[in-house]
Amino acid sequence: MRCAAFTVDVDRDVNLPETGRRDAICQPREGDTTPRFSSSTRGLELLAELLDDLGIRGTFFLEAVAAQQISKRAELRDLLARHEVASHGWSHEDLTGAYTKIEMSEEEVGETIDDAAAMIERLTGRLPRGFRAPYQHVDEAVHRVLAKRGYWYDSSLTMDIRSRRIDIYGLPNGLIECPLARGIDKRGKPIHSYLWPMHEGKRDPEDYIHLLNQYDEGLLILATHSWHVIENYGGPLGRSGTEGQMENVRAILENALDQGIKFDTLEKHVQRSAQNR
Ligand SMILES: [Zn+2]
Repeated sequence: MRCAAFTVDVDRDVNLPETGRRDAICQPREGDTTPRFSSSTRGLELLAELLDDLGIRGTFFLEAVAAQQISKRAELRDLLARHEVASHGWSHEDLTGAYTKIEMSEEEVGETIDDAAAMIERLTGRLPRGFRAPYQHVDEAVHRVLAKRGYWYDSSLTMDIRSRRIDIYGLPNGLIECPLARGIDKRGKPIHSYLWPMHEGKRDPEDYIHLLNQYDEGLLILATHSWHVIENYGGPLGRSGTEGQMENVRAILENALDQGIKFDTLEKHVQRSAQNR
């Protein structure tokens, strides 16, 4: 069976890591890197509306601080009512310190993940069962922390589509990994299932439709950021730019639906796989 999941990382607008600082900053606007949330808020509204329109249940990985800020500007609980709520950290911290050079102890990683879960539950009424690390930076310690706390899955790693198959798998500590996919584009270059380059104007929906045609079995996870349909690293996209990006996302999802690919949330997919084992 060909399954897919549409996942949205809901975090601070155009976020960037900064050396020596745990929280993410935002792409400078007139020299100001203070976290902003307006693009993330608007993009979340548009993407949730699109998924509802297509009858697709998505998985939204919430950065807790971003979710808190968004909830002051939009009806977060209602927007996510039909979708899965998962965790994307507290303030978009680099848990492995690969970019920020700030080492976090396993205890600190655990506290951060617990604080995020508590805030997400307070805002949405639901406890996250899944996690995607900011910058997709995970290591064994992060996976250990998640497994210890009873999380069902992590979705931070990337896996090649092999023999026309891509799927979830068990990590040694019992946690399930739901990896993002990597295929080969028409020019023979790697292409990731994260839609980032499309929002930056470097790829077209056709590239991702080509990627969708590379598997016959398993689960392919598409990913984006809520803010990325409103602004990119070049600046705000403007009304027509946003409309274009929303049309792009719709074109990919409609093509997948037309091909008979079945969409579901990651928690449902993980749950079903466990029952079938
Ligand atoms: Zn993120």
